[in-house]
Amino acid sequence: MITIPRAFDTQKWQTFARTPGRHDGHSSVWGLSRRVHYHFERSGESRIQPREGADGLTDLRFSHAVTYIQAMPLDPTDFYTFAMASANSEGRLPLSRMTGWEIFPFEREGLRVVRLAEPQLPEPPRHGEGGNACRACDSEDSGIWSDEHWKLFVFDSTSGAPLVMMLQSREHFDLTDLPDDRAAEMGQLIVRIARAIEGLPHIARAHVSRWGDGGAHLHIFFFARPAGFPQLRGTCFALWDDLLPATPLDIRDADAASVVAALNGA
Ligand SMILES: [Zn+2]
Repeated sequence: MITIPRAFDTQKWQTFARTPGRHDGHSSVWGLSRRVHYHFERSGESRIQPREGADGLTDLRFSHAVTYIQAMPLDPTDFYTFAMASANSEGRLPLSRMTGWEIFPFEREGLRVVRLAEPQLPEPPRHGEGGNACRACDSEDSGIWSDEHWKLFVFDSTSGAPLVMMLQSREHFDLTDLPDDRAAEMGQLIVRIARAIEGLPHIARAHVSRWGDGGAHLHIFFFARPAGFPQLRGTCFALWDDLLPATPLDIRDADAASVVAALNGA
């Protein structure tokens, strides 16, 4: 069920609903004009029943054949045009929001935003896709801890965070390809690893990140954030990790060994 403003073209949707698959359309979902994709599982006459919602909007209820509806707010050209409308005469976006936060690691004076590059489509393939070798699949390294389906790594060199770890699936999956049983294992492992990291002395938080823009093989990062430094809280810690001096290797290895011991139930 999705809530649509009253002006929505229900007739158009009924036409889409007769064919299975993905369909492009245009709507004003959530009051913003945007392109949308509709996904229908099976062919058939899907009944769409507009109803007056309590909030004055119309609810469209799909009787069947709809698996999910994915709203795509802006295509790459729209996104770029929208962003650049806020740029100055040099094509630079203004400093705002995060640069004023107490956790931001740079002073505003002298800082300027790099120019936003134009859309590049198709995007260059990541490692492990589009004919690029997958370093994860090619590696025999089982990391510092592993089980039948997962491997946990630390890196050869350290960085500013006291401990950085990476969880990786043994088999080649991206996050969104994970079968349900692997996804369930991953969820439990993330909790166990984060719990072990936060159980280390002088560690306040285990930050968990999945970006996935470099490699197609699922890998999840854990950053241990040191206790006692509210300035290092939050998303900027990924930058602080690069700015702070590298943690001595023996100290990092001792922490990593403690996490492994916790995972092994020691
Ligand atoms: Zn792979």
